[in-house]
Amino acid sequence: MEVIIKKDILMAYIGKVKDSGKKVGFVPTMGALHNGHLSLVRTSRQQNDLTVASIFVNPTQFNDKEDLKRYPRMPEKDGKMLESAGCDLVFMPEENEIYPEPDQRVFDFGGLDEVMEGAQRPGHFNGVAQVVTRLFDIVKPDRAYFGIKDYQQLAIIRYFVRKLNYPVEIVACPIIREPDGLAMSSRNMLLSVDERKTAIILSRSLFEAKAMKKDHSPAEIIQFVDARVSETPGIKLEYFEIVNGTTLLPAGDWGGKDEIVGCIAARVGKIRLIDNINFSL
Ligand code: AMP
Repeated sequence: MEVIIKKDILMAYIGKVKDSGKKVGFVPTMGALHNGHLSLVRTSRQQNDLTVASIFVNPTQFNDKEDLKRYPRMPEKDGKMLESAGCDLVFMPEENEIYPEPDQRVFDFGGLDEVMEGAQRPGHFNGVAQVVTRLFDIVKPDRAYFGIKDYQQLAIIRYFVRKLNYPVEIVACPIIREPDGLAMSSRNMLLSVDERKTAIILSRSLFEAKAMKKDHSPAEIIQFVDARVSETPGIKLEYFEIVNGTTLLPAGDWGGKDEIVGCIAARVGKIRLIDNINFSL
């Protein structure tokens, strides 16, 4: 596996690969990798000739500077994991490679950024779009792989890729979970033993919510999950919403052609976790 730090070298390398007619798959990450990330790499390997992953903790998407400071960084371990998953190349840029000067761009996401994560984390998705567009401009992938774990992020990336006419296919990959159901996340390793036990309430309440679907309305299920999380010590619910998967607006009932998704965010101690479940599958 090649490890490249400089964008000019990466662009020359990928340029040659693309000139020979090969397809490039791209998996952007912030590192502290787990099996969720590796599943994206494996899917890309099946669909492309060259798989490129990036590891870059993007400062512009952190509205909370403490969260940025505490975000886990372990490049050596990450490199070994990527290699074992069959990744061909990893791009690990310094901040000034991505942002030689501050990025002033403000994106329009057609309102998709005004709810849930966007409402809780002002500027977060603008920072995501800044880094993803910069990485796409450098890597110029044919396909890019994103986890459904970050449901709203995926919807927003799809929106701006379409709007800005990026010639890249966005591939959505399923949520990979721990054996007890907790969605894998780089932030899980920051949880204490007790917090890790408490965190299970996120996925558990989502699974319970889905089991209630056949004889309960979205409003009843929201009430149930709110109560379920509130009665659990050590966890603070930020939101649980049942939304139309396309508009991300609250779904009043289970009808319509769009998928319906339940999205949850909560703080366990200082650590903020998110998860979601598709009610339409
Ligand atoms: P991150 O490093 O958190 O920015 O995540 C990089 C990519 O991995 C994003 O597309 C995430 O949605 C995806 N991802 C993170 N956790 C999981 C998971 N548990 N299952 C599947 N994909 C994931």
